[in-house]
Amino acid sequence: MKRKVLLIYTGGTIGMEKNYETGSLTPFNFEAIFSKIPEMRLLECEVTVSPFEKPLDSSDMGPEQWQIIAACIAENYEAYDGFLILHGTDTMAYTASALSFMLRGLRKPVILTGSQLPIGDLRTDAKENLLTSLYYASLYEREEAVVQEVAVYFEYKLLRGNRTLKYSAEYFDAYRSPNYPILGQSGVHLNVDREVLYRAEKDEAFTVDMHLSQDVLFWRIFPGMTLDYFSELPKVKVLILQVFGSGTIFNSEKTVELLRALRRNGTEIVVVSQCISGGISFGKYENSNVFTRIGAISGRDMTAESAITKAMHLIGNPKYSGNFADWFSRSLRGEMNDKTIDK
Ligand code: ASP
Repeated sequence: MKRKVLLIYTGGTIGMEKNYETGSLTPFNFEAIFSKIPEMRLLECEVTVSPFEKPLDSSDMGPEQWQIIAACIAENYEAYDGFLILHGTDTMAYTASALSFMLRGLRKPVILTGSQLPIGDLRTDAKENLLTSLYYASLYEREEAVVQEVAVYFEYKLLRGNRTLKYSAEYFDAYRSPNYPILGQSGVHLNVDREVLYRAEKDEAFTVDMHLSQDVLFWRIFPGMTLDYFSELPKVKVLILQVFGSGTIFNSEKTVELLRALRRNGTEIVVVSQCISGGISFGKYENSNVFTRIGAISGRDMTAESAITKAMHLIGNPKYSGNFADWFSRSLRGEMNDKTIDK
């Protein structure tokens, strides 16, 4: 039986071609993808292309576009066996993270990919990324999809979407998931590590949650940073604070005062690390104790992309009544280690 894959083209380098006369990159009509990659006809799946009206550089992607993608998946969920989203690489980790929270009880693959070089370039990585992603998006065993989560495929690796980050602006292996094992690898064979794949609860029905709040701020601290700019506090619901190493910050009265004032103002503070691997461990160093004292939330081993989009998903969401901190501290789609990282 031929599996059916819906390919949603949003934009990015993957859908561009180089004009060798002018040297510039221009988007091509993505519906003509079959003429660019004739091998697509040899695939065992049937591909339907659904392009964005206007292809976007991924720096222009955000909650509105995530909702468009989620709605498209919801509308076509029964009719297709898998979904492939072609996306610019710059913000693909945000889209993958956001979709992982928006799509609940997923039983079908939702794969995102892009490329570092345009599809029309001689040395392009787009072809491999696209073709193998289609394999993963249509991989079934005994009538069950092998991948049942939002994943990113890039340069021979299949990764959990909400664990990824863009690691390189230069090399083909642009995407990594430093805190979670690789879900699958493509070599001579197409491998999948079944032990690490995400599975929704058995009785969880597939639902799409469009709720996304933008009441979120992100601050990265740095040595020598003056806090004088914060004499007027932002009235924000969630502040994601990206701090040093395993969770340290300046040990000064001014810092404590500022964080306390934000908390008094009703702001939830989520702490994530500037390291791309490992995570937050409150109490390991004295310079992290302030977070416990003010009631900050540990982002543990989450990526910043995941923490931001999880906050957007949770803030004011009627489906999560009760305490924001409790919900944030739970792993909803395998985006964080369930256990507190040991000191
Ligand atoms: N600026 C492009 C984008 O993210 C880069 C890429 O596609 O890789 O849309």
